[in-house]
Amino acid sequence: MRRLTALVAAAAALTLAACGQSQEKTADGAASNVLNLYTARHYDADQKLYDLFQEKTGIEVKRIEGRPDELIARMKAEGANSPADVFVAADAGALWRAQNEGLLQSVNSDALNSAIPENLREPSGQYYGFSRRARIVAYDPAKVQPAEIADYAALATPRFKGKICARSGDNVYNLSLVGAMIEAWGEEKTKQWVEGVVSNFARPPEGGDRDQIRAVAAGVCEVALTNSYYFIRMANGEDAADRDIAAKLRLGFPSLDGKGPHVNISGGGVALNAPNKDNAIKFLEFLATPEAQQIVTDLNYEYPAANGAAPSAAVAPYADFTAHPMNVSRYGINQPKAQSIISAAGWR
Ligand code: FE
Repeated sequence: MRRLTALVAAAAALTLAACGQSQEKTADGAASNVLNLYTARHYDADQKLYDLFQEKTGIEVKRIEGRPDELIARMKAEGANSPADVFVAADAGALWRAQNEGLLQSVNSDALNSAIPENLREPSGQYYGFSRRARIVAYDPAKVQPAEIADYAALATPRFKGKICARSGDNVYNLSLVGAMIEAWGEEKTKQWVEGVVSNFARPPEGGDRDQIRAVAAGVCEVALTNSYYFIRMANGEDAADRDIAAKLRLGFPSLDGKGPHVNISGGGVALNAPNKDNAIKFLEFLATPEAQQIVTDLNYEYPAANGAAPSAAVAPYADFTAHPMNVSRYGINQPKAQSIISAAGWR
């Protein structure tokens, strides 16, 4: 038995060495100065967050980036030996997948509970939002009146036959949007909506959200589903062609069930076997601080999530709406139903 334990320990050490990571827990139990972050966020702004966290706490962020499902599979495979402390994803549905696999643990932090509004965190503390993004539409104001897109339901009507662009249906942003619709409308109405939208596509889904926005500008479609920050980044970014496109188009804010646009989160949860749990909680608490909130909105054009945090000057013109108050955990809970509705409707 002792030999087996030694073998397992040796194998674990090898795995860690192979990943370029080190064992963080010191033998005497002293506080470690490392945080192993598994992140599915893919934005340049995030390095600034890690740098500031290290500056404030002395804790170094060792990051592994990947698609959410890759990181979840990796955590599953690593099991109890996983070095992961925090899992971060740019979608509540991806965070739910990690929770659903039993890879997260509940955190009860007064700092987090007071900073982050109740609907932007998982009710038992499995994950907390730190930024918000609306999944809305970009449209050509020469062809579409704002009143025509006041509700998501309008996108499924014959008015938009052949006029809609969207990325693939199994993208997690779309799964969460449809999950929210199931919560608001029920399955039958949501199924009809998805079928209507699919029959309104101008072309088979291809590319990401920015490609849909560019397709509206190119006249391929009149309306595109997109996350807010992609459009706002194009409007404010370095690329002159993208700035021209954004100047020609508008962001529209359809309402779900009369209660406001669907808003998703980027968020993080503490890994079930986090070797550096204290650092993990510190990191989540840091993300909710005014300075971190400012980085997220200044550099990635997201809406802040914490109470009292204001959007940046670039984001503010697109922030004048009341978001749907639904708890973000509902998107993932409804994800299996959303997936089957989307597949059945042929939204590839
Ligand atoms: Fe994104």
